[in-house]
Amino acid sequence: MRSELYIDGKWVEPKKGGTFPVINPATEEVVHHAPSGTAEDVDAAVEAARRAFDEGPWPRLSGAERARYLRAIAAGIRARQGELARLEVIDNGKPLPEAEWDIADAAGCFEFYAGLADELDAKREEAIALGDARFSSKAVKEPLGVAGAIIPWNYPLLMAAWKVAPALAAGCTVVLKPSELTPLTALELGAIADEAGLPEGVLNIVTGFGPDAGQPLADHPGVDKLAFTGSVPTGSRIMAAAARDIKKVSLELGGKSPFLVFGDSDLEQAVEWIMFGIFWNQGQVCSATSRVLVQDGLYDRLLDRLVAETQRIKIGNGLEEGTLLGPLVSKGQLEKVLAAIDKARADGAVVATGGTRASGFNTGYFVEPTVLVDVPLASDAWREEIFGPVVCVRPFADEAEAVRLANDSRYGLAAAVMSEDLNRAERVAAALRAGIVWINCSQPTFTEAPWGGYKQSGIGRELGRWGLENYLETKQITRFAADEPW
Ligand code: NAD
Repeated sequence: MRSELYIDGKWVEPKKGGTFPVINPATEEVVHHAPSGTAEDVDAAVEAARRAFDEGPWPRLSGAERARYLRAIAAGIRARQGELARLEVIDNGKPLPEAEWDIADAAGCFEFYAGLADELDAKREEAIALGDARFSSKAVKEPLGVAGAIIPWNYPLLMAAWKVAPALAAGCTVVLKPSELTPLTALELGAIADEAGLPEGVLNIVTGFGPDAGQPLADHPGVDKLAFTGSVPTGSRIMAAAARDIKKVSLELGGKSPFLVFGDSDLEQAVEWIMFGIFWNQGQVCSATSRVLVQDGLYDRLLDRLVAETQRIKIGNGLEEGTLLGPLVSKGQLEKVLAAIDKARADGAVVATGGTRASGFNTGYFVEPTVLVDVPLASDAWREEIFGPVVCVRPFADEAEAVRLANDSRYGLAAAVMSEDLNRAERVAAALRAGIVWINCSQPTFTEAPWGGYKQSGIGRELGRWGLENYLETKQITRFAADEPW
């Protein structure tokens, strides 16, 4: 485990010398002391990234040359997959198979953007047909500059990959600020990039708290673009900081995503996807389908089945075999989720199962997987993100009502619809105001496909070719008296 910041290709002590404890949420043990970066360290990191961008080779390399580094990073992640997955479990709490999945996905993300970096060489320039034959014009893609990436704790290495891989592929340099709750694998990414021979200053990693390290990064005039994943209130602060000197900004924020289950759906399939949609990663998933709407004829049977299956979930330390639900990430998160359940009860919701701290554990931030019914539409439980294993289930009569209830939210990250009638599913998918709509499933995420939210769930799209565009500028070059058009 690393105890220093990674700045300008070197491991350095934070300038103020502080550390903060990293706590295993299953045991409540302090497993490490991570370096506590502050504004001084952010300054050094941004200066290094600036130099690497303005003077270094990185943005001037061909896409194919950059792709070689990205592939080497992917190989480094794969070579250490087991170790990284275990670090993720002791840092975040998630079950080991989920962590293994995340690590493989992070490597896949670097491989995918290596492919796009290769393609960029051929696609960098595009001739533009002008209405005036005396001129010829082309559009040229160029790297945007220094990117400041601020990420949350729910997918520590994967969220780093979603930002670092496309930024590096595009030719940007990066300062990464991981969450103070889960700094371990991001620091390892620095070591892997170093071993891959990444030129100094291209990737810098500053761990620390939001106000101490995140805010100075967002405020820094040397940063050209901010890429943020996290909560709506912090996203709003990031956007305000970006507004001061017109930094480019992309935001991936929270959600309260609906899952519409029509009466013709297969009961077993529906229950399986509902559970996957809310209990994976303990429900600490921005796209978790936390509002389940079930058509009247199926509602009672589905609820019975969902409650029975939920009660069978094995809760435990993520490192124990067979664990399906680990602890929440922190004491703070445990308290937030328990308070949200209490508030739901006070507002009139009924707990169909769960609703308390999991029994049988002397330590750890374990909460029972929880199903809420009769949740008032105006209550926080229905409207606000809980970010825990808590699902609200409610009946609906017809398609129009389901769509109306689903869209009645300030969020619009994801939605899911289940029906044997694919025409209906497509019609409903078109009517849902969300950036990602799953048909007959919930949560599968692909590096190739765009990811991001409508409404207050964010601005811009990550992943796929859309993710690369976040880190590119487009320059118009127009020539007079051209004999040959481009
Ligand atoms: P958070 O907003 O508290 O923190 C996110 C990051 O921002 C952390 O690194 C934190 O240190 C930093 N930060 C905090 N205050 C800051 C400030 N003033 N200036 C700059 N940086 C600051 O969110 P979280 O609790 O870590 O993550 C949970 C949230 O993230 C949930 O709301 C969830 O929906 C969202 N999320 C969204 C996606 C997505 O793709 N849309 C993915 C994962 C998580």
